[in-house]
Amino acid sequence: MRRFTQAEVDEVAPRLRTPQEALAWALGELHPRIAKASSLGAEDSVIIHMMAAIRRDVRLITLDTGRLNEETYAMMATMEKRYGVRFEVVYPDAREVSDMVNARGINLFYESVENRVMCCGVRKVDPLRRALAGLDAWITGIRSEQTENRRGASVLEIDARNGGILKVNPLVSWTRDDVWSFIRENGIPYHPLLDRGYRSIGCEPCTRAVPEGGGERDGRWWWEGGAGGKECGLHMEHGA
Ligand code: SF4
Repeated sequence: MRRFTQAEVDEVAPRLRTPQEALAWALGELHPRIAKASSLGAEDSVIIHMMAAIRRDVRLITLDTGRLNEETYAMMATMEKRYGVRFEVVYPDAREVSDMVNARGINLFYESVENRVMCCGVRKVDPLRRALAGLDAWITGIRSEQTENRRGASVLEIDARNGGILKVNPLVSWTRDDVWSFIRENGIPYHPLLDRGYRSIGCEPCTRAVPEGGGERDGRWWWEGGAGGKECGLHMEHGA
């Protein structure tokens, strides 16, 4: 088990000037106890492409909440074939899901914020926490411009919510345009829903297309109203 101090993070982070430098450093230091957590969004396509250029035996974790779009499963298969990788698919605890929906209904998330947070906890946050428990670091696709909660993110962070492991955010300073330029210049596969107005990829009942000019996370949990947050709990350490 390896844990970084804040002093080490502060010493290393300024040297990681590009996403490729951040990934090369992280994989060189921490493979195989480091994994990319992926929902198959545009940022994930970019990072998987960059990781596969460094080494082919990278570890990729994805959560199958049981409520994903069919296109997401197809996208996993596309990325596996293109890059010769294999996703480690993490599932929620079957008994917890069963108890939750039997008590509160199959589409409980539409009924209250409490129900939605519970569903995200059972289907996403808890399974991810279990998956990260054996790691020294994880890699995310978060960008600081995505939400208010992510503005304080930096390329390396100590993830206190997940046992103090290192959180590596290689695209933290990239804009949406940076992501799409890189995808197009390199012919990288991307999730088909992103051509249909989706700005992020999540569960099918809780994610929808965003009108032109809308925010990065406006397609999430739209029935709850409000703005700024739009987090499921996976990245809540920046003030949410
Ligand atoms: S996004 Fe919706 S379906 Fe998916 S875990 Fe959260 S509440 Fe449940």
